[in-house]
Amino acid sequence: MGIFRQSILQILNRLRGKFTKRKYYCILMAGELHFNRTRIAPTPSGFLHLGNVLSFVITVAWARKTGASILLRIDDLDRERYQPRYVQDIFDTLYFLELPWDEGPRDLTDFEQHYSQVHRLPLYQEALQVLGNHGPVYTCTCSRSTIHGVTTNSAYPGTCRNKYYPLDTAQANWRLYTGDSKPLEIRTLPQGTMTTTLPPSMEDFVVRKKDGMPAYQLTSIVDDLHFGVDLIVRGADLWPCTIAQHYLASQLPANSFHQTAFFHHALLTNAAGAKLSKSAGDTSIQSLRKGHNNSSAIYGLLSRTLGLQEQAHNWETLAEQLPDMLHQPHGINE
Ligand SMILES: [Zn+2]
Repeated sequence: MGIFRQSILQILNRLRGKFTKRKYYCILMAGELHFNRTRIAPTPSGFLHLGNVLSFVITVAWARKTGASILLRIDDLDRERYQPRYVQDIFDTLYFLELPWDEGPRDLTDFEQHYSQVHRLPLYQEALQVLGNHGPVYTCTCSRSTIHGVTTNSAYPGTCRNKYYPLDTAQANWRLYTGDSKPLEIRTLPQGTMTTTLPPSMEDFVVRKKDGMPAYQLTSIVDDLHFGVDLIVRGADLWPCTIAQHYLASQLPANSFHQTAFFHHALLTNAAGAKLSKSAGDTSIQSLRKGHNNSSAIYGLLSRTLGLQEQAHNWETLAEQLPDMLHQPHGINE
């Protein structure tokens, strides 16, 4: 071993003894980059699959690299799709695969008693009230089928923009008027800042659903601000949501959302090249567990699916092999 390499190892070993593991990773790999908090935010709408695990691993790796605390946030406000067994599956998967988190619920009971989004409804309602009073929202009575009858893509054609229905109309969405939107600056990793505009699919997006409940874009921002999240790691399919959330944050009272950093990663695809989906019944972690696979076997399967040279056997050995943690350049999913 050369003298240079030996001395590097000595310095690293000295650092290793001096700092906690998390701090050590932070110094070793990320230089100046530091964040306070990130989150793992699965939706309990089905059983988790390998693609979800990949996303968790990338989030955990970024957290350990940058000193961010990991919050487990479970978005359960879609009450039609909510099922306790899907929340249980989130805990089962995280524990089984030894994926760490530092804050948030430890089990289903703790979640329902202390962390369910239902407890934060007053916060979401407050934000909706600001939007309602301040004027950028309007009532939309269109059904999904009437919209699809008008447009070929998912863009809203603006049908109700100038109809001025009262905001308290029953069974109607609230849409955010985005006609005046200007280019938005988004803090992105690893490159810095992206300037972009709302994609057509996000024009006049829904902020309150027909049942009166706040929509995902709104709850996500309110939660991230509430918990002090300053690093968001998510799949590249959510890039349009990232842009919409920046626009929405700009319409809310002064807040720090524009300082949040975003990392968008590539998605795991099936043999046909489509992203994995809970509803399409892609191989769930639950069924792999029931098939007597241990956690090492599941990380091995994920390594093979990604085409990695070496089989990983835990999140650390998987993260080490991910090329730049599968960074996905922005814009390709707009
Ligand atoms: Zn409408």
